[in-house]
Amino acid sequence: MLNKLASLKEEAVAAVVDCADLEQLQEIKIAYLGKKGTITTIAKMMGGLSAQERPKLGAALNQTKQTVEKAVGQRLMQLQAAGLTSRLAAETIDISLPGKSFVQGNQHILSRVVEEIEDIFLGMGYSIAEGPEVELDYYNFEALNLPPEHPARDMQDSFYFGESLLLRTQTSPVQVRTMEQLRPQLPVKVICPGRVYRRDDDATHSPMFHQVEGLLVDNDVSFADLKGTLLVFARRMFGEEREIRLRPSYFPFTEPSAEVDVSCFVCGGKGCRLCKGSGWIEILGSGMVHPKVLSASGYDPEQVNGFAFGMGVERVAMLKYAINDIRLLFDNDLRFISQF
Ligand SMILES: [Zn+2]
Repeated sequence: MLNKLASLKEEAVAAVVDCADLEQLQEIKIAYLGKKGTITTIAKMMGGLSAQERPKLGAALNQTKQTVEKAVGQRLMQLQAAGLTSRLAAETIDISLPGKSFVQGNQHILSRVVEEIEDIFLGMGYSIAEGPEVELDYYNFEALNLPPEHPARDMQDSFYFGESLLLRTQTSPVQVRTMEQLRPQLPVKVICPGRVYRRDDDATHSPMFHQVEGLLVDNDVSFADLKGTLLVFARRMFGEEREIRLRPSYFPFTEPSAEVDVSCFVCGGKGCRLCKGSGWIEILGSGMVHPKVLSASGYDPEQVNGFAFGMGVERVAMLKYAINDIRLLFDNDLRFISQF
């Protein structure tokens, strides 16, 4: 029996040492030490031995059991360590590889100019108003003092969807919508940036372009307020040394109306190619809000008045950044748009 135990111990330890993985080790452990394992079975048979034999065999069996348990424990640690090592090897990240570089985009020049304009007027207490690009004829023309038979409608050849629906030709309808929403609240002090559409396509005209219009309605607004506001804008936008000049003009929705020129920011007023020798560059249209526009929006022109102005964003961008063809702004040629 003692010999049998000795060979059993040898056999078990050899199996443990030879096993290849944790699963196999678990099987061996169960085969020898489990509830129905060889060593456990022998231990159960100890009850049938004589009192003389029992202590000797008991000690030998215990020793066998401990040896096998110890071997299993050691092999378990070895296998676990080997597993960790191979996992580390397999999952190693080579940090010496060069990284993937990403091309970083930049803001489109038009978005940037709109933001510059917005910032200047936000700084003067204006808020931003937006409206639909598909607009009712009423808001685009009629409420702006352009009744159906008005000759000024010919000035703007428009994209119509039917009798009374069109792509807005100007951002002015947003002014009317804002006044309708806010009345009788005062002051109305908004700028309206957005896309507008006209049937036009050449080096200086695009069928879709951007405008920013401004509107101030309050008690006692004067033409001097308009001029002061536009002077602040011109200086923030084109340089603190700029001057502005107002020339009488005509717009159906303002009376009186004025074209606004800014002193040339290339030659400083001496005369150059950009200003065509005049020293002045036209940048926007403006005027005192026409009484009919005020009353169409529900304000009493006897009680309140206001001024409005509007500019083409593309024109401002082209002047400020010396761009000679409007189509460059929409071609999405990265060689061009990444310059800004
Ligand atoms: Zn000039």
